[in-house]
Amino acid sequence: MKTHYHIIIIGAGPAGLNAAISAAQSAQSIAIFDDNIFAGGQIWRNGPRAKLPLIAQKTQAIVADLPHVDLIQSVKVIAAIQPKILLVEHLGQSLQIHYDKIIICTGGRELFLPFPGWTLPGVTGAGALQALIKAGLDVKNKKIVISGTGPLLLASAQTAKKAGAHVVFIAEQTPYKQIKNFAFQLWRWPKKILQAIFMPIISYHTDSFVIEAQGNHAIQSVTIHTPKGIKTIDCDYLACGYGIIANTQVASLLGANIKETVVHVDEMQQTSLEGVFAAGECTGFGGSELSIVEGQIAGYAAIGDTQRAQQLFAQRAHDQKFSHLLKTTFALRAEVKRLATSETIFCRCEDVTLAQVIQHKDWYDTKLQTRCGMGACQGRICAASATCLFGWDTVKTKVPLSPIRTKSLIEMLTQQSK
Ligand SMILES: Cc1cc2nc3c(=O)[nH]c(=O)nc-3n(C[C@H](O)[C@H](O)[C@H](O)COP(=O)(O)OP(=O)(O)OC[C@H]3O[C@@H](n4cnc5c(N)ncnc54)[C@H](O)[C@@H]3O)c2cc1C
Repeated sequence: MKTHYHIIIIGAGPAGLNAAISAAQSAQSIAIFDDNIFAGGQIWRNGPRAKLPLIAQKTQAIVADLPHVDLIQSVKVIAAIQPKILLVEHLGQSLQIHYDKIIICTGGRELFLPFPGWTLPGVTGAGALQALIKAGLDVKNKKIVISGTGPLLLASAQTAKKAGAHVVFIAEQTPYKQIKNFAFQLWRWPKKILQAIFMPIISYHTDSFVIEAQGNHAIQSVTIHTPKGIKTIDCDYLACGYGIIANTQVASLLGANIKETVVHVDEMQQTSLEGVFAAGECTGFGGSELSIVEGQIAGYAAIGDTQRAQQLFAQRAHDQKFSHLLKTTFALRAEVKRLATSETIFCRCEDVTLAQVIQHKDWYDTKLQTRCGMGACQGRICAASATCLFGWDTVKTKVPLSPIRTKSLIEMLTQQSK
């Protein structure tokens, strides 16, 4: 890895890869850093059991052939030690990387909300189940319930079915009328219709959500609210996802403005900071087509090719309408925010209960008084829940961004004290 690049792109999902392809027209040196072991991000997630769509294969092949672009996996961004210098960890080494411009394409993660039984083995996020299957989890003949909201539930069900699982119930919290209205508007985005055709809708139930998971040492059944009353269903896995939230940590680390929980950008995808761009789902959820076009605009904008960037504005505006439709259709209903009881574990990493959290007035106070948010996920799950359930401001990012080696910690502190 070099120690200086003209442009650094963080995230090798659809947005990051396309930003690199656009920016590569300038022949400047570009690095794409991703913390995963494979490129592709969420929708194009690779793994031993993954079958990549053609568009993912083509995009990755183009990036691999770009002469001035280094695609580097397993890179952990730790801190911004000085303006335009990142401290990263890669293959056991801490490295300082200098850059002129940066494009943040860190995508999103699913919102996983607490409910009784959600810490039982066998309960995962909806996208997390997909990721586990692609990484090799054997779900053949297993009974799976999927619950939450949004198109990710169907995508997850499709992956599970293809892997030989029995998807026994898909509980979508949104009422039928809203889903019907959503489906009738899809003709405006033909690629979405094409994706929807292959989705497993037989076990799809609207106006339904899991209220509790039961089991001794692992999940055995779930209780579901349905329009026809409460149902209990046996299952081996429960995959739950309440929509997608933006990964804003890197943007926040650099000091870019975060507005309504997403990275705020202008029409050129530039954040509130000069030379710092952001694209894809870290700027708001909208599907892969929107991430692609935003990535392309950010790539052109970063090399100063505003003309090519502007030519893509109409496409972006069209895809943003889909994003708006998603937001209005799959808005969370109040009941799913009230499922956790006082005894329910709120912070999964550190076993902090809801009762221990709600004694405090805000996130800052909770973190001072409890171990909430201090575990391996560094609050990625519980902080997002706190924002969703109590409206708490949790976006302020502290370094290091994730647990790191002692050597990196010493390097970070040494640089900070200079
Ligand atoms: C769990 C999950 C599963 C999904 N599955 C589907 C699906 O099956 N079908 C579908 O249509 N849509 C799916 N989506 C929506 C999908 O994310 C988007 O449509 C699309 O992938 C967004 O592209 P992106 O490039 O903006 O971000 P992503 O694809 O999320 O890519 C972001 C990349 O940045 C990396 N990254 C993040 N933070 C850092 C950091 N600090 N340092 C280094 N690298 C970092 C991540 O590892 C990731 O590789 C899923 C979303 C989620 C959250």
